[in-house]
Amino acid sequence: ILMTNDQFDQGNAIRTEHGGAPFANPRNGAAGTLRAKDRAYRVETTFFAYGALPLPDSGELGGSLAELPHSEVLSYVAGLGVHTAAGTDVAPVLAATVEEVQTRVDAIGSLRATLPFGIDGIVIKADLAADQREAGSGTRAPRWAIAYKLPAVEKITRLLSVEWNVGRTGIIAPRAVLEPVVIDGSTVGYATLHNPADITRRDLRLGDQVMVYKAGDIIPRIEAPVVHLRTGDETPIDFPESCPQCGSEIDTSEQRWRCTRGRNCRLVASVSYAAGRDQLDIEGLGATRVVQLVDAGLVADFAD
Ligand SMILES: [Zn+2]
Repeated sequence: ILMTNDQFDQGNAIRTEHGGAPFANPRNGAAGTLRAKDRAYRVETTFFAYGALPLPDSGELGGSLAELPHSEVLSYVAGLGVHTAAGTDVAPVLAATVEEVQTRVDAIGSLRATLPFGIDGIVIKADLAADQREAGSGTRAPRWAIAYKLPAVEKITRLLSVEWNVGRTGIIAPRAVLEPVVIDGSTVGYATLHNPADITRRDLRLGDQVMVYKAGDIIPRIEAPVVHLRTGDETPIDFPESCPQCGSEIDTSEQRWRCTRGRNCRLVASVSYAAGRDQLDIEGLGATRVVQLVDAGLVADFAD
């Protein structure tokens, strides 16, 4: 049972609306939800079957389940309408050699960042019932199923400040400045925050210890504050009252805030982009010339 990334975001929105502290990450969210009693709200989770065991009175079915290869047990329960990983990008496959296992492990590892749910490893199982019996079981887990652990993609670090940057189109986007932390081999010092509503929804505060996720080439993101590590010294995040680039008013009618001057807020960047090789391709109209035109008052808005 897990929370997909979407279920995690929705679950945290519902939870904070009810005055609860946000879940630190999808795993904590799923575990906490399974333990919860008498919650005043519901959050959604996703179930994946990864095996099937007969009950003592299952009769003939019990015997045949025990003799089926693992892959056929999974297709059997899927045929009964039980949700399995078969329909996902990381569906189980049969591998005949160690090389094939390694190929699949590498493939799943490279899909990790784009999956709609988090994974921290890959389980390699003996398929044939006879092989499983031969491997036997330890005290805690069967010896015929082994977890291959992927490198950690989540770390806890401190949220130092929030920067507000204005994009070429006038969108005002917050960016989290983090105490630098090494995740999956690269140093992470910034994380995306999308928009002000996103900050409110996550109940983020300056000085918070935050769970940061970074996998593959994706932009690092903050999953949530780790609320039980709060000291009481955390402070609210200030939202800008005027455009941090030009001082104009901010249009806050949409989730993504925008400078009311729109593209004209960053006129030089907008005009340079429009004149660029892949757009209007105006020869001779480089950034230097655009600055001169704007400074001379000859170009005052995007239409000029
Ligand atoms: Zn502006």
